[in-house]
Amino acid sequence: MSDDPGPHLSPTDVHVDSYLVGAGRPARQPGASVNPAVELTSTYAADGPVNYARVGNPTWTAFEEVLGGLEGGRALVHASGMGAISAALSLVPPAGTVLAPDQTYNGTWDLLTAFEASGGTVLRRHATDTAGFLDDLARADLVWLESPTNPLMDVIDLPVVLGAARERGVPSVVDNTLPTPLLCRPLTLGADVVVHSVTKYLAGHSDVVLGATVVGTDARGQAIGERLRLHRTLHGAIAGPLEVYLALRGLRTLALRFERASASAAELARRLADHAFVERVRYPGSGAMLAIDVAGDAAAAERVCAATTLWLHSTSLGGVESQLERRRRHPSEPLGVPENLLRLSVGIEHVEDLWRDLDRALCEVSASRP
Ligand code: PLP
Repeated sequence: MSDDPGPHLSPTDVHVDSYLVGAGRPARQPGASVNPAVELTSTYAADGPVNYARVGNPTWTAFEEVLGGLEGGRALVHASGMGAISAALSLVPPAGTVLAPDQTYNGTWDLLTAFEASGGTVLRRHATDTAGFLDDLARADLVWLESPTNPLMDVIDLPVVLGAARERGVPSVVDNTLPTPLLCRPLTLGADVVVHSVTKYLAGHSDVVLGATVVGTDARGQAIGERLRLHRTLHGAIAGPLEVYLALRGLRTLALRFERASASAAELARRLADHAFVERVRYPGSGAMLAIDVAGDAAAAERVCAATTLWLHSTSLGGVESQLERRRRHPSEPLGVPENLLRLSVGIEHVEDLWRDLDRALCEVSASRP
């Protein structure tokens, strides 16, 4: 098995756009492929660096090198974002205490609820209650952060909370799916673990489900990384090489996609703020996600989703296509999320087409109200 991910381009050598294009490629030799191979194998001939494909695969290695460099650490690819989150939560002892925002992505929310049901404790603070987070750190075995929160788009003061956690020796995890490493690199702020739903912006084309964890390169990071690697190997939530290859291909265009989607999100947030059928716009000031509370009830918000033709009514985010959804349609969504909230993931279509479609859908539903 060839375990050489190729030239070790560092994000400090070039701009991030160039790094994303050039990193994780095979060594440049005459006749060499420009892309890593998709290695479809369950096992390897004995006495090599890896003996079984639940432990390692060269296609993973190429992706992990690129993402690790992007976050400034060492990455592991997992079967899904939830696989990565489960691995990170395994760092907490079964009867331990997790400090977390009082509203998170609903999968994380459900996992934390299950953790409580099996004897753990979860301390919850509002995302913007920085003083509360600092107060509770003393009682926590791990602090879990997600900023902006999905879907309320509340921003946590990551530098302050992560800095304090590091100072007090409390391990910290940041779900960096929404900002991506282009906007935020939590390891540089003191985080111990970064988790990603690679399914979203990193892969970017709504064609794979994958996750990743990233840890620092110092001794502490390496020790945590070994625990996460062991969790992946023993619990077996491993990624298929083809999916990882597709995610790596998606990463090549992350900067372009995210820049375009973010510019459109900012413009849509500005226009929606003046829309007669929008009660509130929730936009963190950067990134490609926003949420709106429509001026109507849950049924009206659902009708807006059904009335769009360009925006895709679906439950994911971070793809090239714009997507929208009323989050409270899911019974597991935290109750702090309003019934009339629509989460918008802005894609790379032309912003005027996105605006026309959304504006028309909002106006149609508004006009049809009894
Ligand atoms: N984290 C965030 C912020 C998410 O939005 C999601 C999925 O929507 C996940 C984690 C879970 O990722 P996956 O669906 O890849 O398991």
